[in-house]
Amino acid sequence: MYKLIDLPYKSLAPVISDQTLAFHHGKHLQAYVDNLNKLITGTEFESMSLEEIVKKSSGAIFNNAGQILNHEMYFLQFAPQPSLPAPTGNLLARIEKQWGSFDAFKAEFEAKGTTLFGSGWVWLQANETGELSIVQYANADNPVAHGLKPLQTFDVWEHAYYLDYQNRRAAHLSALWQIVNWSVIERRF
Ligand code: MN
Repeated sequence: MYKLIDLPYKSLAPVISDQTLAFHHGKHLQAYVDNLNKLITGTEFESMSLEEIVKKSSGAIFNNAGQILNHEMYFLQFAPQPSLPAPTGNLLARIEKQWGSFDAFKAEFEAKGTTLFGSGWVWLQANETGELSIVQYANADNPVAHGLKPLQTFDVWEHAYYLDYQNRRAAHLSALWQIVNWSVIERRF
């Protein structure tokens, strides 16, 4: 049985309002958890880790497991006052090598999030040699399903921002950098 993750903070306001956080975590993510538990009961997936389910399933089981994995990585990368507000060390060196600067990286990340048509996620992912890429994945898809390492993600489903930003997805995405804790992303890298 999967359980809803606890959030390691009380509020991310004003970047994400308390109302959006409560609905996103307590209603949307809770629904994916409840759905997955119903779907996998009595199946081969019951004893698998979330990552294994994402790699091996399809259809409704994949959609719900993928959304749990995506949201856990999304919520756990944030902090109201990030201890590390920008990448450093090896990860910064990689970003500068591939994009020229952290600002250029952020600009491409925001552009890919803004232009993703419909619902989905924009991800920073790494391959087995540490090479980075920014990728759009539709609906519940994610790097794990493609054998890549997930590092950082912005949710561009409308439920992530519509109460606070309405149609202004780009404004929401550019505000999110204020709460990304790069110490979490560096650990994943
Ligand atoms: Mn979401």
